[in-house]
Amino acid sequence: MFCPFCSNEETKVVDSRLVAGGSQIKRRRECTNCGERFSTYEEAELVMPRIIKSNDRREPFDEEKLRAGFHKALEKRPVSSDKIENAIQEIKDSIRKIGEREVGSQILGKQVMNQLKELDEVAYVRFASVYQNFQDVKDFTDEISELSKK
Ligand SMILES: [Zn+2]
Repeated sequence: MFCPFCSNEETKVVDSRLVAGGSQIKRRRECTNCGERFSTYEEAELVMPRIIKSNDRREPFDEEKLRAGFHKALEKRPVSSDKIENAIQEIKDSIRKIGEREVGSQILGKQVMNQLKELDEVAYVRFASVYQNFQDVKDFTDEISELSKK
């Protein structure tokens, strides 16, 4: 890929390592023209099952929404972005391992709460009680947005 700073066509890899529990490769690159450094991530492109909502509608799995939910839930908590990425990866792995083309949203919601519990007890307790009434992960992220506004 081109250098994002000067659009030079050549960059060299100065470091590469496994991240997200080994499911991604992070490459540190350096532009041969301007010398700026940046990172790229590589992961296998795998199809996620669709999510069955409580009203029986099907929706594609939305990783960005999930990520936004975690960041909201863990706002101002001492949890690194790397740990959040690991949690998201673990959720994706376990949802995929179910081996179905469609997965109920309550299964996804449960995974989210399990990961949240491991990441931060305070955030978990804060949201667990509210979650009992959630019908799906969209509710979860909506609720978190609401709570963080207050
Ligand atoms: Zn450059």
